[in-house]
Amino acid sequence: AQHAYATLRDKPATSRDGVTLSLHMNAGLMADLPSLPKCGAVGVGLFRTELQFLIRTTVPKRTDLAALYAHILDSAGTKPVIFRTLDIGSDKVLPYMKRGEEPNPALGWRAIRVGLDRPGILRMQVQALLRGSKGRPLHLMFPFVAEYTEFEAARELVLREAARERELGHVPPASLRIGAMLETPSLAYAPDKFFELADFISIGGNDLKQFFFAADRENEKVRRRYDTLSVSFLTFLEEIVARCAAHGTPLSFCGEDAGRPVEALAFAIVGFRNLSMRPASIGPVKALLRQVEIAELRALFDETRAEGHRSFRPALEGWLEERGF
Ligand code: PEP
Ligand code: MG
Repeated sequence: AQHAYATLRDKPATSRDGVTLSLHMNAGLMADLPSLPKCGAVGVGLFRTELQFLIRTTVPKRTDLAALYAHILDSAGTKPVIFRTLDIGSDKVLPYMKRGEEPNPALGWRAIRVGLDRPGILRMQVQALLRGSKGRPLHLMFPFVAEYTEFEAARELVLREAARERELGHVPPASLRIGAMLETPSLAYAPDKFFELADFISIGGNDLKQFFFAADRENEKVRRRYDTLSVSFLTFLEEIVARCAAHGTPLSFCGEDAGRPVEALAFAIVGFRNLSMRPASIGPVKALLRQVEIAELRALFDETRAEGHRSFRPALEGWLEERGF
């Protein structure tokens, strides 16, 4: 099967009726980068930066981080890399950071909340990213933004650091694009100015889904209880697509579901055109997409919703099975 997908590598991710998706890969280690040319991804849609912090017993040094980020960008060549700033707390705990016990860590002091309350580490990481870019384009995004003002504050922190780096004589990035991860339902209903200010938005579907259904992604008893293809969740995603489209804000989906071919198809049906996934998923997602007509499946989704079904899965999988996919 790997071989069959290899022949697809340089073919476009385009459906039979001409809907083209940009397929990006997720990464978190330097060791992931060799997959980029091999899997046919157009870039790294999510680089999770916490691993470098989690594998140590002390805070990493800025110079080491800057060298690592430069190395990642060197390896990616002309393909863009979106770095997500540190996402700690909840399931990702730093041994050297003091934090109290929390009754509900997933709803607790994590990600950008920590970054804004204790900006020392975030500032250091942003400096390392700016230096590591060495005059190349830099894309960064903040995890777990729940309110517009959090994005605004984090963005201003980055702009301040960029100005300071310039004063210090460091080469600025060729361009700086600052985005937000949409991982809490609240951000989907942020004021218009959020959608205007964000250079791009990336849905962290793993978290968004757990908060949409109030079902812990770590809890085996409930984590599979609610379907990603439920009509309610797809309708919610469709609303986010519409808000982003109204403001011209680029949108992508980067949770694990993006790498499941049937789910990826459903996201294309509700309007997503950018997905980011594990490198090994690019081939299977592309292979399925190339065999279908999105407009036809869109009609199937509208029909399923109008008929009041709970999930789009039986209709979509039935349709695929009938055609031998
Ligand atoms: C997500 O929540 O979907 C996501 C991409 O981030 P993580 O899985 O690292 O929380
Ligand atoms: Mg997340």
